[in-house]
Amino acid sequence: MEVSVDIIRELNDTKLQELIECDEDTYNVLRTEADKVRRERYGTEVFLRGLIEFTNYCRNDCYYCGIRCSNKNANRYRLSKEEILDSCRSGYKLGYRTFVLQGGEDLYYTDDKICDIVSSIREEFEDCAITLSIGERSYDSYKAYYEAGANRFLLRHETADEKHYRRLHPDSMSLDNRKKCLFNLKEIGYQVGSGFMVGSPFQTTGNIVSDLRFLQELEPDMIGIGPYIMHSDTPFKGYDNGKVSMTLRLISILRLLFPYALIPSTTALGTLSPTGREDGLKAGANVVMPNLTPVKYREKYEIYENKICTGEEAAECRDCLERRIERAGYKAVTSRGDVKSLIK
Ligand code: SAH
Repeated sequence: MEVSVDIIRELNDTKLQELIECDEDTYNVLRTEADKVRRERYGTEVFLRGLIEFTNYCRNDCYYCGIRCSNKNANRYRLSKEEILDSCRSGYKLGYRTFVLQGGEDLYYTDDKICDIVSSIREEFEDCAITLSIGERSYDSYKAYYEAGANRFLLRHETADEKHYRRLHPDSMSLDNRKKCLFNLKEIGYQVGSGFMVGSPFQTTGNIVSDLRFLQELEPDMIGIGPYIMHSDTPFKGYDNGKVSMTLRLISILRLLFPYALIPSTTALGTLSPTGREDGLKAGANVVMPNLTPVKYREKYEIYENKICTGEEAAECRDCLERRIERAGYKAVTSRGDVKSLIK
């Protein structure tokens, strides 16, 4: 089978499904083409995003997630504003020019608190991008954070299929609202990231086709995917993990469908395979997210089991990732790394 940006964009759902399920030979062609397109757009650059997991409190109860509110074994923590700023300071020294504040949906951080944190980071690190990944909030809240200085927002849609969504989430949550949030964020002016888990329980290849179609409708600037990984303190205890190989081929398909996109090679990939993140880069990813969370909290942000990189200080984490990036044949860069949207 021949694959290129033009061919892949024209595939109907059946053909796209066939491509997702393709044999190893076709995947090799796909990966080579994805790497070519990535080099045309972004050269060998890999952007670094300093990740600060600032709270593991969450009001939601997603069946797959280890920090769901019903998990009484989760050891909860929150970072103070000073701890967050200190993490940014360490990250800045290491050359990071994007800070990603990620957490459970924790309403302890009111709009005022988020705005205060964001504007303090903005004031101290003028040349940096601030990314929020704090789940679903109202249009007005998102707008307030944007006005306080946030530039980007990560909110994976998780699955674009209503029936599948219902099997992963309690009734209190809704796919419509999640999608609405993504369009609101876009309208406000954020660079928006979305994505989904690969191999989450009950996921079919048809569901993945819906995920790709939804992403085509949304046209996000950033697309994050990673394998689903089981956590024993969830209703999905004992379910199989997602597959690294499927995640890699989807990264290649994403690169061809969205040549301009910023696509991370995720920690979840590295958790399931020692070379997972290198392989993700070779498959078409161009972002990595070194962890900046103070080490004493790291293990507590356990959305899935056996998460890697929980013991290293920020500097070690950076060195390790830089070596991995170089081994894969690319170059870590410290620029802000905004999406090259002009050449969409
Ligand atoms: N509360 C924020 C951040 C969630 S954590 C939000 O709602 O966006 C970031 C991502 O981790 C989630 O979007 C989900 O896709 C992923 N995740 C959660 N549990 C996981 C698991 N068990 N395995 C793999 N990825 C998981």
